[in-house]
Amino acid sequence: MLCNQCEIWELTDRDNFCSWCGANWIRFEVHLDRAELPRSEYPPPIEVVVRNGSQALAIEVERIAGSAEWISHLSAAELPVRVPPGGQHSFLVDVDTFSSGSTPSAEIVVEVAHGGSRSRTLRLL
Ligand SMILES: [Zn+2]
Repeated sequence: MLCNQCEIWELTDRDNFCSWCGANWIRFEVHLDRAELPRSEYPPPIEVVVRNGSQALAIEVERIAGSAEWISHLSAAELPVRVPPGGQHSFLVDVDTFSSGSTPSAEIVVEVAHGGSRSRTLRLL
């Protein structure tokens, strides 16, 4: 596959960026199975789905974290996780709504090696 920014460099499936023009080839999306939770119940874990948007390059999920201490990543032991091109992987995050106090929302952050991070907002109702 030629880099489609410079159309000069031949990318292999191990390249995260173009060595010629520096274009970043990591593409990923993060989705939560629920983005709103009632405060009055203790919810089952939230499913965090990381989708690799690249058809050529694998990504490596390095870290999943919450912006508040009442969010904990249940599948942390399996990290890092390699997600193949076009593939996806689900992680479970526990949310202790009873410890959240009056906080209205928090962020769930997913970090990918050499690919930066994406975050999704979780709201408490
Ligand atoms: Zn390039």
